[in-house]
Amino acid sequence: MDQLNNFLSPPAAPRDFGFFVDGKWQSGHDFFVRHSPGHGVAVTRTAKCSVDDLNAAVAAARRAFEDRRWSGLPVGSRASVLLRVAEILRTRRDELAYWETLENGKPIAQARGEIDHCIACFEVGAGAARLLHGDSFNSLGDGLFGMVLREPIGVVGLITPWNFPFLILCERVPFILASGCTMVVKPSEVTSATTLILAEVLAEAGLPDGVYNVITGSGRTIGQAMSEHPDIDMLSFTGSTAVGRSCVHAAADSNFKKLGLELGGKNPIIVFADSDLEDAADGAAFGISFNTGQCCVSSSRLIVERSVAREFEALLAEKMKRIRVGDPLDETTQVGAITTEAQNTTILDYIAKGKTEGAELVTGGTAIDLGRGQYIAPTLFSGVSREMAIARDEIFGPVLCSMTFDTVEQAVELANDTVYGLAASVWTKNIDKALTVTRRVRAGRFWVNTMMAGGPEMPLGGFKQSGWGREAGMYGVEEYTQVKSVHVEIGKRTHWIS
Ligand code: NAD
Repeated sequence: MDQLNNFLSPPAAPRDFGFFVDGKWQSGHDFFVRHSPGHGVAVTRTAKCSVDDLNAAVAAARRAFEDRRWSGLPVGSRASVLLRVAEILRTRRDELAYWETLENGKPIAQARGEIDHCIACFEVGAGAARLLHGDSFNSLGDGLFGMVLREPIGVVGLITPWNFPFLILCERVPFILASGCTMVVKPSEVTSATTLILAEVLAEAGLPDGVYNVITGSGRTIGQAMSEHPDIDMLSFTGSTAVGRSCVHAAADSNFKKLGLELGGKNPIIVFADSDLEDAADGAAFGISFNTGQCCVSSSRLIVERSVAREFEALLAEKMKRIRVGDPLDETTQVGAITTEAQNTTILDYIAKGKTEGAELVTGGTAIDLGRGQYIAPTLFSGVSREMAIARDEIFGPVLCSMTFDTVEQAVELANDTVYGLAASVWTKNIDKALTVTRRVRAGRFWVNTMMAGGPEMPLGGFKQSGWGREAGMYGVEEYTQVKSVHVEIGKRTHWIS
């Protein structure tokens, strides 16, 4: 850790990472060099693995699954490993937050909060392991007893995106391990560091070799090969809807592997005139600016009651102007850098499109020049209509589009007018409106008078084109199991042929 400079500034030289297969570190022959999006300097060097490397990792995970070195342990022993992981993560919190911030561009204070959430994921995973159970049917008649066994699905492939590299990883890994599965992970090529550090932590906590393997590389080669791999039993993919669709095709054309898909969102925030407008404006500013809006559950469509729309937008714009955008390593920064140059261009292109489509720019709408790195001001468009690209497409940046409604019916209809169904929120003091909207808006995660709240006990996942299945908590661990129906004859069998 000599390069770390007390986590106050980027390292003097990029840190080298190998990849991790069957409990051993391997070195690459070719590398990705990652530049910090907040500072523009090289911070990590990660191996570009080959498909042969992937095949070796899948073979190691298969051996570890088949010889039951993990799933065959008493559940108390497995839960203890997961609890030890939580303890070690606590001791490495600052270091993990540092690499997450350097590779992703998120504020260091936010990154530390995310590591705390990850620690909780391992604690909940340990509990989930102990609570996972099957079922029995004592109702099949005196001659027959039925049991339903829950069994781990096998070798899981896990592909993660760059926006929450460690958090998304930790919302899955403890639950995959709790089920008894073994795994091969491929992080995003631009944010691999913390996924690799987790390999060190898991090994130190006593996870047997071969259970957690990490292959780094591009989506087009390694990700695609994982989707097509005949020896991966389940693929958990988190990323864009377009790549999720390609995973579905690849699974159908290979071995019909089970898929867990956590995809994009275009999430509504509905604000009624009777809400506490100050609270709602704070929630809206947070919901679109948190993680620079590069968040699958960002509240990017503001649906506000017409009678208070102007007042609310003014309140919101005033708050958005006061958000502290700055160096991700600065403790006081609230919004950091845009993670990739490509994403920076995409966001600025959408802002330009919003203007040409006729939306009214209320605040933001420009890049912020801090002398190094790439930053965009939190942006609010008013007078947006549902046909505009900025209202329909997932921009994945700090760009909020405001539309108006007059009735509860209209609010629900507008909220549901999207191919996505990941998250939604409603702000009102009226319980009838809150519950009506909660029941009728089609989304996998819902917030009432709050934003982004939650914990790893609660399931995560989307309706419609936002995905399949659920991650985290008991719902999450069950996704990584399959059930077997067992029928046990009791007493003397009645012969078919007498
Ligand atoms: P992406 O789809 O480009 O990449 C995600 C991962 O897939 C990366 O590891 C990438 O290397 C890999 N990949 C790329 N091409 C692949 C292919 N052909 N086959 C298999 N894997 C491939 O997404 P991104 O740009 O990293 O992340 C942003 C997207 O992720 C957004 O759409 C966002 O909404 C979504 N997301 C969803 C959730 C959720 O929980 N629903 C969470 C975070 C991000």
